[in-house]
Amino acid sequence: METPQHPDPGPSPLTVPPPANPLLAGRTALVTGAASGIGRACAQALAAAGAHVHVVDRAAEAAKSLADEIGGTAWVVDLSDPDAVDTLPDGADIVVNNAGLQHVAPVHEFPPERFALIQRVMVETPFRILRRTLPGMYERGWGRVVNISSVHGLRASPYKSAYVTAKHALEGLSKVVALEAAGHGVTSNCVCPGYVRTPLVENQIADQARTHGISEEEVVGRVMLERSAIKQLIEPDDVAEAVLWLCGPRTGHITGTSLAMDGGWTAN
Ligand code: NAD
Repeated sequence: METPQHPDPGPSPLTVPPPANPLLAGRTALVTGAASGIGRACAQALAAAGAHVHVVDRAAEAAKSLADEIGGTAWVVDLSDPDAVDTLPDGADIVVNNAGLQHVAPVHEFPPERFALIQRVMVETPFRILRRTLPGMYERGWGRVVNISSVHGLRASPYKSAYVTAKHALEGLSKVVALEAAGHGVTSNCVCPGYVRTPLVENQIADQARTHGISEEEVVGRVMLERSAIKQLIEPDDVAEAVLWLCGPRTGHITGTSLAMDGGWTAN
């Protein structure tokens, strides 16, 4: 008697195998500030596309747990320490300069040491990482630098002198790298989000609600997104998707640009 044939049910929706030839197979990515928010979403997206990801952050537990989750390597480093930055791996094909912090105060009350710290983490550290990783990219003839700037790399807001200064500087660094790297198959671009739903912003919402005595919804709609045409926070995964696209094979001619993801803020 013939054995009954059962149609192959195919993979269950929970066990869909990864694509046979993922976009970034064989590539290595280094993402700073990867333990939280936008950096975390970028690390997850790059790993899902096949890259081995160096998860760099000072938040040890979160960095290690993410590295385990995505099969990457955790580097627990304080990015305000130049000596520590110079111990990071220098062989990445993709660098996402993402780590950042905010401090809000008028210029005449802004603590100078806080200003200097923000420039170190958000400008000097990207520079140090790039001066170590670019030679390898040049040698291999391929590389992608994505700098997570901000709408504040393109526009100013009061009380954010250190952050706005740092993001404008990062925009400049990104463009210089684009020019120097152009003959080597290496691109350098900024992604410039408006407000993204991350711990950095959630803390600001809570602070401002307390300071102004208004609800958190009012802070988002009337204060933070006042200059944005779209009155919604951006999701970290949406930023990561743009970063992944810039790291893909069809974007070799996009360099020295700043991709605004700001709900129309800079259209004003
Ligand atoms: P986040 O606070 O969620 O994450 C920042 C990460 O950077 C954290 O894991 C933190 O530990 C790490 N980090 C900060 N200082 C560090 C240091 N000295 N050493 C090592 N790690 C350090 O922030 P986020 O909102 O995901 O922001 C990420 C980047 O995106 C920042 O550069 C920020 O300026 C930029 N950005 C954020 C928004 C937003 O609305 N959230 C908008 C535009 C741009």
